[in-house]
Amino acid sequence: MQQNDYQESAVDRLKRVNDEIAAAAKAAGRNAESVELVAVSKTFDADAIRPVIEAGQRVFGENRVQEAERKWPPLRAEFPDVKLHLIGPLQSNKAKEAVAFFDAIHTIDREKIARAIAGEMTAQGRSLELFVQVNTGEEPQKAGIMPGDARAFVAFCRDDLKLEIKGLMCIPPVDEEPAVHFAFLAKLAREMGLAGLSMGMSGDFETAIAFGATHVRVGSAIFGVR
Ligand SMILES: *Cc1c(COP(=O)(O)O)cnc(C)c1O
Repeated sequence: MQQNDYQESAVDRLKRVNDEIAAAAKAAGRNAESVELVAVSKTFDADAIRPVIEAGQRVFGENRVQEAERKWPPLRAEFPDVKLHLIGPLQSNKAKEAVAFFDAIHTIDREKIARAIAGEMTAQGRSLELFVQVNTGEEPQKAGIMPGDARAFVAFCRDDLKLEIKGLMCIPPVDEEPAVHFAFLAKLAREMGLAGLSMGMSGDFETAIAFGATHVRVGSAIFGVR
């Protein structure tokens, strides 16, 4: 009996994910370039990440400030054009580090955080891409502003803090049809005149693209199981 020892690599999977993104965009009548792949590298170390950068991927997502600060500086020294997106919850006492370290934050969800980020961007002279996280499933344990409060919160960020908000982000409840949440988030963003939509993970990024995702956050489909 012949044995197949070939192990699919993260680079093979990256290529497949990029092909699937392009196909989903095409099916939705969109350009593949209108969808940014954020490769979620949380829990994977520099040796696992480096081949993916070498294969051309430049945008990565991490969910913890400290973990990112520990493993990314040497990689960034090697590849200065890499962009890092914070996709996990943020404490206001980490705002200074987060603004210094990341290029985008997907999880702005309350006044205290928005104020801290605005203050740090001014103090550090940095401008990050910002997304407001919406708790579309209204789950008590989950981060994100409640949908009913989203409009006032975005207005507060824009008008009071002079923050430029790129778009909205959501993480649908695990046991619900994600399409419903993606459609809802897209409608909310459209009503507020926001162009960005950070939605879709390994299991549902193609659906998210059909509903207009501009940023898909894909981890395990590239790096393997965590
Ligand atoms: C871990 C994580 C992802 C990636 O999840 P996968 O299912 O591995 O693709 C996306 N978004 C957020 C907010 C995450 O924490």
